[in-house]
Amino acid sequence: MKLYGKAREQLIYGLSSADAVDNRVCDMLFECGAAFVGFSDVSDVNGNHGYRACVTIGFKLFDGILKGIAGAPTYEYFHHYRTVNAALDGMALRVAAYLNSQGFESIGIPASQSSDRDPFHGAFAHKTGARLCGAGVIGKNALFLSRDFGAKVRLASVLTDKAFDFSRALCDGDCGDCDICKRACPAGAIYGKNYVPGDDVSVLVDVAKCSAHMKSAYRDIGRGAVCGVCIAECPRSNLKGYAASLLN
Ligand code: SF4
Ligand code: SF4
Repeated sequence: MKLYGKAREQLIYGLSSADAVDNRVCDMLFECGAAFVGFSDVSDVNGNHGYRACVTIGFKLFDGILKGIAGAPTYEYFHHYRTVNAALDGMALRVAAYLNSQGFESIGIPASQSSDRDPFHGAFAHKTGARLCGAGVIGKNALFLSRDFGAKVRLASVLTDKAFDFSRALCDGDCGDCDICKRACPAGAIYGKNYVPGDDVSVLVDVAKCSAHMKSAYRDIGRGAVCGVCIAECPRSNLKGYAASLLN
């Protein structure tokens, strides 16, 4: 069976070989609607909560929703954003429960959750796990750019003490000279710098400016929690008729 025109194996990143538990994790996630699954070694990553490995869950946002974003979010996009986050949280919970049942201590990290102490960072940086498994890179918009789907993905993670047979093949490339998201951002929040491994999101985007713009300009749509312009405009999302430059 193919998913998005690809064989299942082409949408699993970061493994040299898979055991029965790994295969069951992938089966569960694809059955629940995941578009890709990644496995990465996060033993040296800050914020790993003491776990050695990350299972990245990627969900492809629907083109039919994102095409409606023309310079500003829509009610349909806000609903999609929330329901996809809930679906990802359910997938992360299910995988973590399964891994725990097999003897591997594991926790699910929510798709989108921040705290009053740090409103701009979650419990673990999903895009770090997604990059380390080789599924894509981080763009000038500070979003994860998937090899397969560009910026039109949302992520969740499961951190676990299971040992995987990692392939450690990173995705090459960056945004090059493209500055489409910088020019499209209605808040002027994107600096236009290529990501360098280790960069915090604040190096790429003025997150306070982005958040303030959403809260003031889109208060009528989900109380200012979403925007989506830098997802929809990115040529790697392949929504606006640009000739997308593919990642290697
Ligand atoms: S979400 Fe909107 S305001 Fe924030 S960086 Fe992207 S385009 Fe700019
Ligand atoms: S719009 Fe261009 S610069 Fe921005 S993230 Fe996409 S490829 Fe990178």
